[in-house]
Amino acid sequence: MRIALSIAGSDPTGGAGLQADLQVFRTLGVHGAGVVTALTVQDSGRVHQVLPVFPTVVLDQIRVLVADVRPHAVKLGMLASDDVARNVELGLLALDAGTPPPLVIDPVLEASDGTPLLERRAIGTLERLIGMAALVTPNLQEAATLTGCDVSTQEGVEAAACALVSNLGAGAALVKGGHRDGPPDDLLVIRDGGSQALHWLEGQRIDTGPVHGTGCALAAAITAYLARGDTLPTAVERGRRFVAKALESSAEAGKLARFLGYF
Ligand code: PLP
Repeated sequence: MRIALSIAGSDPTGGAGLQADLQVFRTLGVHGAGVVTALTVQDSGRVHQVLPVFPTVVLDQIRVLVADVRPHAVKLGMLASDDVARNVELGLLALDAGTPPPLVIDPVLEASDGTPLLERRAIGTLERLIGMAALVTPNLQEAATLTGCDVSTQEGVEAAACALVSNLGAGAALVKGGHRDGPPDDLLVIRDGGSQALHWLEGQRIDTGPVHGTGCALAAAITAYLARGDTLPTAVERGRRFVAKALESSAEAGKLARFLGYF
């Protein structure tokens, strides 16, 4: 049995966060383990409240879990506070013995409605975590905040993705173009010896109802494929296809479909 671990915030609607990750893991045939970093109060329109879990309890969840169950891949989502992020970092060090499983980081900074999901002072800790990641999957805004690059041009997006790899130390970066006007192409940059290989991946805009959690679903799908043993480029390609299909099912269900259709 292959096991994927999500360390993420709770979204009671199941559209995003840990609940969405576990649904994606199940759909892709891997067992989903989950550590909660934060509770949220939200409906499918907006986030009403965020309550970080007591930081040492986040660490205890990870330590006790990984002493017993070794995941084949790990995904990090919402971290809420610097104290929680630092305890996640300590927890991941417990996983570092031997060959650590690949780590995918969705560097969640805020919800689509603008609610902050990570406090500003935690950015330094998030950057250290990115240095441990096989892959980081920012949207354009997150890539700009993490690197200081102006992502309004293609060259700026390329500079940001390269900086995530060369300056912050991620093995690869997938900068998602879904929030851009025009074609929603993603950029995948992979460390290749001392240099970096850039791949622009063509995207197609799919007109859905007000679904959220697309970013969570993409990172979770890539994590599931890595847990199944795919290489990183294959996991990214299959993860993008999985989310495109889920968006198409939502679009078919019409404007009132509020969730991604995984099945
Ligand atoms: N709630 C949780 C727990 C999340 O992790 C996220 C995104 O990562 C959201 C809400 C917001 O999702 P969206 O940005 O799609 O609104």
